[in-house]
Amino acid sequence: TQFEDAGLHPQVLANVKMCNYESTTAIQAYCIPIIQAGHDLVAVAQTGSGKTAAYLIPIISKLMGKVRKLQGPRPANNNGRPVRAEPLVVIVVPTRELAQQIFDEARRLCYRSMLRPVCSYGGIPIGVNLQELGKGCDLLIGTPGRLQDLMNKPDVLTMRRVKFTVIDEADEMLSGDWDDEMAKLMGGGDANEDPDHAYLMFSATFPKEARKVARDYMAEDFVRVR
Ligand code: AMP
Repeated sequence: TQFEDAGLHPQVLANVKMCNYESTTAIQAYCIPIIQAGHDLVAVAQTGSGKTAAYLIPIISKLMGKVRKLQGPRPANNNGRPVRAEPLVVIVVPTRELAQQIFDEARRLCYRSMLRPVCSYGGIPIGVNLQELGKGCDLLIGTPGRLQDLMNKPDVLTMRRVKFTVIDEADEMLSGDWDDEMAKLMGGGDANEDPDHAYLMFSATFPKEARKVARDYMAEDFVRVR
């Protein structure tokens, strides 16, 4: 399949070309239309399959063009930024390396979009994360522990505008006992109550913990890709 036929926002298409992606990988051919249609999605995907772009491209394409509206009114104080970070997309990943990799790809695909990706994981001082969040944050990419720490701080982060929650390499993450963290990230704020909100889960395998997350949080008609 060609990216040109996918009905993408022209700037995203330009950014895809800039990344030198010529045609879609299999996982991208399957996932892009499903995400564009607004479905919740569980995809069995290996690293190297192009799974990151499979969700970043349609997410960014859907948000682009209505970024200002989705971000809400800009307050006059705090340099026109909300006091708390109000991401539109939250991407939860098991490792720092993966977070950094997704961040790099997000930055390229967000070029000229007014969408600002931020990466937060353990190992960098939390003060650095706070500074980055303070500059504005539309896509928040992070590891569960650090995201939890940020959510627990007063006036740092709210999930109320989240449109897409992505769980990447879910099987690597859900094997630990972090049910509570998961619940907070998944149900965080009123994301669940937004009828347009979508959950996307990518995993090399689909163990019972991942099935439980799908059952507990996703719409009953979520789409499976494998
Ligand atoms: P991932 O499976 O997301 O870790 O991606 C593996 C690698 O494939 C990354 O380095 C991407 O930049 C690259 N990639 C993703 N989509 C495409 C595509 N459609 N064509 C060529 N390379 C791609």
